[in-house]
Amino acid sequence: MTSVDELFLGTDAGNDAYREAVSQASEAVVEAFAENATPYSGVAPGRLDDRFAESECLPDEGQPLAETIEEVGDDVLSDSVGVSDSRCVAHLHCPPLVPALAAETAIAATNQSLDSWDQSPAATHVERRMVDRLCELFDYGSGGDGVFTSGGTQSNFEGLLLARNWFARERFGRRVEETGLPHEAKAMRILCSEAAHFTAKQAAAHLGLGENAVVTVPTDDGYRMDSEALDATLADLRQRDEEPFALVGTAGTTDFGSIDPLDALADRANEHDLWFHVDAAYGGALALSETHREKLTGIERADSLAVDFHKLFYQPISCGALLVRDGERFDLIERSAAYLNPEEDDLAAPNLVSKSVQTTRRFDALKPYVTFRTLGRERLATLVESTLELADDVAALLADAPDFELVNDPTLNAVVFRYRPAGVGDERVGRLNAALREALLRNGDAVVGRTEVEGTTSLKFTLLNPKTTVEDVADVLDAVRNRARTIEVADQQLRR
Ligand SMILES: *Cc1c(COP(=O)(O)O)cnc(C)c1O
Repeated sequence: MTSVDELFLGTDAGNDAYREAVSQASEAVVEAFAENATPYSGVAPGRLDDRFAESECLPDEGQPLAETIEEVGDDVLSDSVGVSDSRCVAHLHCPPLVPALAAETAIAATNQSLDSWDQSPAATHVERRMVDRLCELFDYGSGGDGVFTSGGTQSNFEGLLLARNWFARERFGRRVEETGLPHEAKAMRILCSEAAHFTAKQAAAHLGLGENAVVTVPTDDGYRMDSEALDATLADLRQRDEEPFALVGTAGTTDFGSIDPLDALADRANEHDLWFHVDAAYGGALALSETHREKLTGIERADSLAVDFHKLFYQPISCGALLVRDGERFDLIERSAAYLNPEEDDLAAPNLVSKSVQTTRRFDALKPYVTFRTLGRERLATLVESTLELADDVAALLADAPDFELVNDPTLNAVVFRYRPAGVGDERVGRLNAALREALLRNGDAVVGRTEVEGTTSLKFTLLNPKTTVEDVADVLDAVRNRARTIEVADQQLRR
């Protein structure tokens, strides 16, 4: 049996066991994603169900780690989706950068917890420095502050939580954090575009406002919030004595990568005394690029903004941040616990728990820190820029193909399209495209996204991977054509 020493870091035996374990685990990963493999093995949900129905997760007695790692390699890793494969182009699901993976190893092993300084001394200061640098990147003035989060969902929730508490304090003289929602809360409204992420509604639900508190504003033909429609919506709400308090702009919608006219939205927020939150979970990475950063103009006027590093910054999950233009606003959610951040802290050290909705919290800031210092802003920007160029090339390819229909003109690297052979109507196109996506995954050809556009199922490429070439995508399109032929034949046989 392994000794207790070998189970923990800190002795020679433990340190050796650790080195060996990390190297075995990384070998298993490399093996599972060998170069000749497809982006997915094609194993169907039913078979995975059967496999794991049998697996003993908590045996009475264990086995050597090497054996467990080998099993995990065979049963788990080999049927994982190959996020680093150039044909894995479905979601905002990135291939992680190697420097960030090194950081991840250090994060796990050092196990710092960012809730209190005495659990994460240097880590606390690294996170604070990263937050300062990010505030600078987004052109926030010196008053900016922020916190690392688990991702866009949490950042959007916390941004809207601050907004709700701010509004209730300003408008109704009510401290929601102490006394709960005022009865006027029934009339409180959040505005976002039709193409905004579902987490705006989810946050409204969690915040006790109900998801019907979210009013969606129509988009223009580029899937951006239409600012004239916003004016009309605001006028309408005023007339009905409703209380709009937060405006959510999206910098990179999940489906289309479209960016709302942030400057125009900031003007409206100013005029109408709204908290302006920008969801830049996807598009925030454009701030790195000299060429593309002007697309984010107006983001510096946001009261709060959400940015995800586990998307277009190529960090392993999870890693996001919420930034707040006026850091004093964190007092809207501050609470103190005697054991973490007592009001009279004898250490005179920062305890980040007061800015987060989490208590125990990972040192995720180390991943972008290591990445930024290793690659530098320019190199990282080049990676992002190359994917935007690829998206333009792919859009041109689709626009020229007689059997495909391009749905959006890409702003970021999301390209929505349909397979539409001549003479096929909308309803059949929808069914065909849904079947195609499933067939591609089942056969391991490619991992392609699906979404609905105006009621018709469409396919989507999210081209995050800088290694993906236009030839790779052309191969995927050929695979779509081939699968479509198979589906046609099967349909005809059924009809006979
Ligand atoms: C991904 C995404 C989110 C959700 O973020 P998570 O990191 O998945 O929690 C929110 N908004 C937008 C625009 C996104 O793309």
